[in-house]
Amino acid sequence: MSQKLAGRTALITGASRGIGAAVALRFAQEGAHVIATARSVTGLEATDDAIFAATGTRATLVPLDLSDLDAIEVLAANVAQRFGGLDILVGNAGVLTDLTPMSHICPKDWQQTITINLNANWQLLRCFDAMLQQSKAGRAIFVSSGVTKRASPYWGAYAVSKQALETMVQIYAEENKHTNVRANIIDPGATRTRMRAKAYPGEDTDMLKTPDSISAEFVSLAAADFAQTGQVIRIAA
Ligand code: NDP
Repeated sequence: MSQKLAGRTALITGASRGIGAAVALRFAQEGAHVIATARSVTGLEATDDAIFAATGTRATLVPLDLSDLDAIEVLAANVAQRFGGLDILVGNAGVLTDLTPMSHICPKDWQQTITINLNANWQLLRCFDAMLQQSKAGRAIFVSSGVTKRASPYWGAYAVSKQALETMVQIYAEENKHTNVRANIIDPGATRTRMRAKAYPGEDTDMLKTPDSISAEFVSLAAADFAQTGQVIRIAA
């Protein structure tokens, strides 16, 4: 492969399956050292095995529940100590709870969705910002959704969290337009993962694109020569 990310260190959340696992593998194939986080140790190990089989190198695996915002701060301190910095941050992890009218959302689901999809990503930005600034080409990439294109009935907390995430990233991008840091948003479009299957049970999954097929878009956004910032890149379904 082209080694577009050679020598770079990349942290990817939600790397135990789905889109995050595919991005972790692709980044490793492009020469990055991958720090992969998620809660599932089995899932992280599967990602690591795929990376080893493809590249002969190993990822750094960090089992972590992103709802523990203090743990993200500890993670950042450990990354700084062990790797001396971070070049690429991918805030990919996300949750989707039951699709239901706004007034019916269970408070626990609201809380969890806003915590993982928004607050944890803010904490990642807050804690890794200094390292991204020190990188020659710091890149922050966050994963949003097509639900932000319009008011989407029944998508409740998920849609609210993704809309707020986009605003957060765009403000950060604007604040950093005179630095080496570029921050962008990617909307992967309908992709064959567990989350998609939950949202659309019974759908013919063979019709959906695979996570592997969109990983190159993440490489483009992570590359040092990607100059745009504050963009929402939408991949067709
Ligand atoms: P999956 O459900 O397959 O993967 C979600 C990932 O997030 C898993 O690795 C999961 O790991 C991690 N995660 C969830 N909760 C937590 C938590 N509390 N702490 C740490 N990690 C957590 O979904 P996708 O791959 O589809 O989703 C990836 C991103 O893409 C999400 O942000 C989603 O909103 C977005 N997206 C997906 C679309 C699609 O069609 N698939 C369309 C539009 C957007 P674990 O359970 O091991 O913790």
